[in-house]
Amino acid sequence: MKKIDQLLHAQWIITCENKNRVLENHALAIHAGKIVAIIPSDQAKQDYEATHEAHYKTHAIMPGFINSHTHLAMNLFRGLADDLELMDWLNNYIWPAEGKWVDHELVYDGSLLAMAEMIRGGTTCFNDMYFFLGATADAAIKAGMRAHIGMTVIDVPTAWAKTTDEYFAKAIEFYEQYKNHELVTPTLAPHSTYTVSIENLERVKKLADQYKLQINMHLQEAPSEMEQSYANYNKRPLARLHEINMVSPSLIGIHLTQVNDADLEILAATKPNIVHCPESNMKLVSGACPVQKLLDLGINVALGTDGAASNNDLDMFGEMRTAAFLGKVTANDPKALNAETVLKMATINGAKALKIDHLTGSLEAGKSADCIAIDLNHLETQPVYHPISQIVYATPRSQVTDVWVAGKQLLKNRELTTLDANELIAKAQNWRKKIKS
Ligand SMILES: [Zn+2]
Repeated sequence: MKKIDQLLHAQWIITCENKNRVLENHALAIHAGKIVAIIPSDQAKQDYEATHEAHYKTHAIMPGFINSHTHLAMNLFRGLADDLELMDWLNNYIWPAEGKWVDHELVYDGSLLAMAEMIRGGTTCFNDMYFFLGATADAAIKAGMRAHIGMTVIDVPTAWAKTTDEYFAKAIEFYEQYKNHELVTPTLAPHSTYTVSIENLERVKKLADQYKLQINMHLQEAPSEMEQSYANYNKRPLARLHEINMVSPSLIGIHLTQVNDADLEILAATKPNIVHCPESNMKLVSGACPVQKLLDLGINVALGTDGAASNNDLDMFGEMRTAAFLGKVTANDPKALNAETVLKMATINGAKALKIDHLTGSLEAGKSADCIAIDLNHLETQPVYHPISQIVYATPRSQVTDVWVAGKQLLKNRELTTLDANELIAKAQNWRKKIKS
């Protein structure tokens, strides 16, 4: 018998790898934070002696969700300004509030609040874009989450940096500090083509090439962005990026609700990653990304919630359901964005976009034990004909019972193990008082 750290038995194990197997009465064998085997429970009991053994008798165990686009600290602005168009919302509400309040402390508190929400909803990894990167990194390390932190570049002075040079200097400093960290990975995050000049985007590209970093960017998010781009450059944002060779598998284009045939030609030839944020796009009436069309062209599409000020939650179950429904309406085809496709968008496709699919995003021997247990033995999710259908179309996030990142348990029977929920609520209420005044 081999000695290992953990043996987790489950009624179903959903792997989310290429074959996307749904295995019944199997066990996940974990040692030193990694999956060593996925085998039938009976066999596992013969093969392994585990320090910790647990039975998830009515649960599905699957990879943790990867929320591929967030602005975590904005959890503290949740509900501050709703029911507005993107540019009105940004210019008249969000940017002024950020200008006044965003600092290291707000980012730390807001990010922790968001991480607690994400862990309770089964998310194990996120891809963030914000300011005061060190605060987000500190929060992720405390929470125990896998974090991709975007080093923002924007030609607008903020409390984080006054000039574009300062954004670059801070990005390099952050990169040097975290380049070899186990949980925190730096990425580049030029905000958009309407807030960063083409010269500075070329600098971003140079840096990305030099350090081999992914580039996150809001891209063709709303009609107003397109109008601005035509008025100023007589070109579409994607075409401008293509001219400087920035559209490639290293690019993570976020939103992409505005797509024409010329765009599709560029995308098919260059294969960037796209992050679909359907709820934010619907709430701001930005438009709908033609996801099925992109997938049919072989383009990797991941799923993100966007910030809590434009969603207003970080619920990947809700996001999957919305992506499926909106995807069907957009394609005018009920077969578009089926349950399995959407589940992959929320897991392995996110890992591919972040270039960590060798490490996480599916349950396979050799990968990190980043997984969640979902109890399907609730009135709301019975009977279970197909676990994937149930998870995508009927399960609320409150049915996530347990969450692990690299084998470390972050949620145990719905209780947070690394964070204090009461303390986070008290801090959120304090911020509300300050921001409201
Ligand atoms: Zn965003």
